[in-house]
Amino acid sequence: MPQRPYQVCTRCVMDTSALEITFDEKGTCNFCSEFFEKSSHVLFMDEDERSRRREAYIASVKAGGRGKKYDCIIGLSGGVDSSWALYLAVKLGLRPLAVHMDNGWDTELAQNNINNLMQKLGVDLHTHVIDWDEYRGLMQAFFKADVIDIELLYDNAMLAVNYRQARKWGVRYILAGTNTATEGMAMPREWNWLKFDARNIRGLWKRLGNGSRIKTFPSIGVVGFIYCEFLQRIKWENFLDYFDYNKAESLHILVEEMGYKPYPYKHYESVFTRFYQGYILPRKFGVDKRRLHLGTLVVSGQMTRKEALALLEQIPYSSGKDLEADIHYFLKKMGWTRGDLEAYLARPEKPHAMYGSEKVLYDFLSSSYNRIKYK
Ligand SMILES: [Zn+2]
Repeated sequence: MPQRPYQVCTRCVMDTSALEITFDEKGTCNFCSEFFEKSSHVLFMDEDERSRRREAYIASVKAGGRGKKYDCIIGLSGGVDSSWALYLAVKLGLRPLAVHMDNGWDTELAQNNINNLMQKLGVDLHTHVIDWDEYRGLMQAFFKADVIDIELLYDNAMLAVNYRQARKWGVRYILAGTNTATEGMAMPREWNWLKFDARNIRGLWKRLGNGSRIKTFPSIGVVGFIYCEFLQRIKWENFLDYFDYNKAESLHILVEEMGYKPYPYKHYESVFTRFYQGYILPRKFGVDKRRLHLGTLVVSGQMTRKEALALLEQIPYSSGKDLEADIHYFLKKMGWTRGDLEAYLARPEKPHAMYGSEKVLYDFLSSSYNRIKYK
C-alpha cells in the first residue's frame, strides 16, 4: 500500500494515524465534522432546555428508587469524569451506590481520591477486587495475541460488575461519567474493540491461556447486554450531558471541596491505563489517544488548538523519569524482562477477530435495532 502523506486536521488535532480519516477542502476532518453534526445539540443546548431535561431525569431516578436502598449505580474509576458525576448526583439528592473495580493497577492517588470522595459525600462503595492471578493470566494472553484493545478486559469486567450490582439492588439507572463535552468524538474503529465481546476474551484465553477454565473473571457478552438493557431495562446514561460540563472548572471544585488530587492526563488513575495509553499504544500500535481527547476539548471550546498541539509535542507521560518508573513497575508486576517487552513491542499487530468475536452479531443487532427505531 502506498504511504499516505501526513496530514493533521485544521480544526481539531486528529491526523492520518487514524486510518479512516478523510479531509474536506478546508482541511477539516470527518471526526470533528461528525462530532459537530451529532453532538452540537448536546454541547450547545439552551440552558433552560438542559435544566428541564435534567430535572425530569433526576425525578425519574428518584421515583424509580423509591423504597430501595439506592436509586442509582455510579461506576467510579477515580478519574475526574466519574468523580464529578458522583459529586453532582449527591448534590442533587440522589442516593447512589458507587461501584469500583480494582484490577490490581489502581494508583495510590486514585485510591486516595476515591476514599476522600466516599468520606466527604457519605456514599457507600462496592469495590470488586479482581482475582489478580487470573487477571494477570488473561493479560498475558492478550499480550501474546498482539491485539490492540488490552483494556477490553478491564472495560468488559467493569460493565459486568456494574450491571451485576444494578440487578442485585433492583436499580435501573447507571449514571456514567462518559460524556459528550470531553469524549464525544468517535474513536477510530481500529483503535479499540467491541467492549461487550466476551467471546473474544474466551477465545483468546482458549488459544493462548494456560489451559485452565476462566473461574472468577466477571464478563458480559452481547446476549447479557441485551438481557440487562431490554429485559431488565437497566439504562446507562451519559449523566454529565445533563450539565454544561467543563472539565477544568469541575476539577477545581473537586480539588477545593473534596481534597481531590489531579492527574497529569486523562485516564491516568490506573498505572496500566497510563502505561498502555502513554507507551504501548503509541510504540506498538502507532496510536496516540490524546489526539482524540484533546481534539474533543478543542472542538467543544475547552482548549485552544494551539494548546492541544503544544501538549502533543510533549511525550505522553508526565516525565521521562515517570515513564521509566512505570516500565519498571510493569515488568515486575507482569514478571517480564526488558527483552520480553522489546520483543512484544516489535511484533506486528493482529486483529481481534481472528480469536472469535461477537462483533458481527452486535453490529447486525444494532443496525436492525436502529432501522426499527428510526423507521
Ligand atoms: Zn478534525
